[in-house]
Amino acid sequence: MKVEIDQNSGFCYGVVRAIRMAEKELEKQSPFYCLGDIVHNEQEVARLHALGMQPINHEALSSLKAARVMIRAHGEPPETYQKAREQGLSITDATCPVVLHLQNKVHAAYEESLSNGGQVVIYGKPGHAEVNGLVGQTANTAIVVEGEEDLQRLDVTRPVYLFSQTTKSIEGFQKIRQTIELKRQERGVSDLIPFRVNNTICRYVAGREEKLTLFSRQHEVILFVSGMKSSNGKVLYEVCKRANPRTYRVSHPSEVLPEWIRGCNSVGVCGATSTPLWVMNEVAARVKELSV
Ligand code: SF4
Repeated sequence: MKVEIDQNSGFCYGVVRAIRMAEKELEKQSPFYCLGDIVHNEQEVARLHALGMQPINHEALSSLKAARVMIRAHGEPPETYQKAREQGLSITDATCPVVLHLQNKVHAAYEESLSNGGQVVIYGKPGHAEVNGLVGQTANTAIVVEGEEDLQRLDVTRPVYLFSQTTKSIEGFQKIRQTIELKRQERGVSDLIPFRVNNTICRYVAGREEKLTLFSRQHEVILFVSGMKSSNGKVLYEVCKRANPRTYRVSHPSEVLPEWIRGCNSVGVCGATSTPLWVMNEVAARVKELSV
């Protein structure tokens, strides 16, 4: 049986950067705290935990004093930095530069909206860390939409500044854009009322959809490896599943079921931007074991 690991899968630039920063800090001293999981991958979190990294939530952060805390690639709202300053925490900021740029754009749109009565709209998952960080740039006024039904909360007769969470699908984003355009036409909204569309989907994710589609078609069975909490993982798994219905999502080699690959000649192993290469290697090794 041929087992191939997708060369285009695995950690994106932002996650690699955050992990490198964490490893460097962990060499100095522990404990070193991380606000949330550094990456939505249980195994990588466990590996860094063994080196002394301790994930904490916002509640636990409130009780820390003079400790070392990392802000992960997703970023945080301004209130978190404020709180950290007040508590004398030392922050290692691993916010991905792509996310940082987006935060700045959202903030600029918010400032503009204050003078024209506009609304900042973010296509994303409510409560997702990156989305919380973006909403924080708008004094918590941004409207988060996940599907077309959420657009009822918008007043399309007012200016709209549309952004996307970096890991959402382009298809979904275009649907939201088109629905807003349609609603504006139905209400006879003048072109003078701005509708600013900012496609802020990360190119590291966007490019992968096409590559994963090709890869998924080249194999009989696809094993998509990602942490179950990863929203990027969910999107990319669906891309593979559309291209190849015999796609299965696993987070650990032990989850591979023999019946998925029985009698099959070619298995492709791929993953999300938060999937470590070493976990994909382990899944591929498990497939080989089962095929003997
Ligand atoms: S997916 Fe893109 S925006 Fe998100 S952490 Fe990776 S490089 Fe940064």
